[in-house]
Amino acid sequence: MRNAETIASLWHSNPRLMRQLFAVYSVVLAIVVNLLFVSSLAAQPSATGVRIGDHAQSTRFVMDLDAHVDFHVFALADPYRIVLDLPELNWKISSATKVAGKGLVKDYRFGMFQPGTSRLVLDLAKPVRVKKSFILKPSGPYGYRLVIDLEATDRSTFMANLGKTSIKPVQYQQPKAVQRKYGRKTIIVDPGHGGVDPGTISARGHQEKAVTLRAGQALKKKLEATGRYNVVLTRDKDFFIPLRERVNISRRNGGDLFISLHADSIKDRRIRGATVYTLSETSSDKEAAALAAKENKADIIAGVDLQGQTNDVTQILIDLSQRETMNYSAEFANMLVPEMAKQVKIRKNPHRFAGFRVLKGPDVPAVLVEMGYLSNRHDTDLLISRKGVDRIAIAITKAVDRYFRDREAQLASP
Ligand SMILES: [Zn+2]
Repeated sequence: MRNAETIASLWHSNPRLMRQLFAVYSVVLAIVVNLLFVSSLAAQPSATGVRIGDHAQSTRFVMDLDAHVDFHVFALADPYRIVLDLPELNWKISSATKVAGKGLVKDYRFGMFQPGTSRLVLDLAKPVRVKKSFILKPSGPYGYRLVIDLEATDRSTFMANLGKTSIKPVQYQQPKAVQRKYGRKTIIVDPGHGGVDPGTISARGHQEKAVTLRAGQALKKKLEATGRYNVVLTRDKDFFIPLRERVNISRRNGGDLFISLHADSIKDRRIRGATVYTLSETSSDKEAAALAAKENKADIIAGVDLQGQTNDVTQILIDLSQRETMNYSAEFANMLVPEMAKQVKIRKNPHRFAGFRVLKGPDVPAVLVEMGYLSNRHDTDLLISRKGVDRIAIAITKAVDRYFRDREAQLASP
């Protein structure tokens, strides 16, 4: 109380001095907060390297760490995978220093799964048994090492071990609540892939998950600048979200339009340009079907257990109500294609159809935009540039404007 009175009287007697003191105090506070933040980063354990040893019937997978970590191992089938969940790690293994798969480990990938959880997924050449998994303490030139010993086994043994190691389902992070303003439409912008699922990767190492996130953020900005839309990003950081959860985010936020952003790759490196996809039970062509199959694999790539996700009665009802939504989706796609053509190169037959899981929201019109090809040099240059993603954001924003203007006009007409 006395202090407060002293401060109050000082404030009146010498306001300038007090303002200066207050400024100094703010700066000191900012520095302290910053230091705390940096030290919390430093406290995060790092994964610094991976080694794989192959011994005929067994394979040893070793990950170098700079601290002791708790981890959890479990197996997933079809395809055969071993998944390790760890605390959030700082991955100091670049695509340049990453060693190739060997023996029973065909390939592997790692990244953030959920804030707080990092994940390592091993793709297996055949069914395995986890013989041992443990952490070695530092000795000699080595720091902490996480060791997994795998042994070849048969399918029935692998399948019998599935249940024993599975963990409780992860709580997926909710996107930040947007301040919903009355009369505004809600646009769900969905940057494809993320975290442990990098998506497609260019020859120079650019990852689809980073391209889609930057494009999503640019689109959010452009849409919000009109003052006509609430925009929800399904993810605003580099973490993984299952396909079904992306649809749920849209539903929970009352999305009026769902836009999923992706970048493709194809064998023929000369092929470039954007394509807009909408949902359909039958694919418009072989390429569209193959693409949908590839994009639908995201959950498998990230080591998500898809067992129990069967087509039940609700799924049939959802499919029925999708019919009307599909017409609106196609309407939006038809408006988007000419706008895209004004800004970037588009492919022949730029509006195609296929069975993308992420577009299966029952009541929200949805499109999936493949913004270009990371297998093509020119498209990659465009997609990694600020200007490139801005052009795409402009095209989409114009199409969104037109779509809602038309729908309102339809509703207003007698
Ligand atoms: Zn994709």
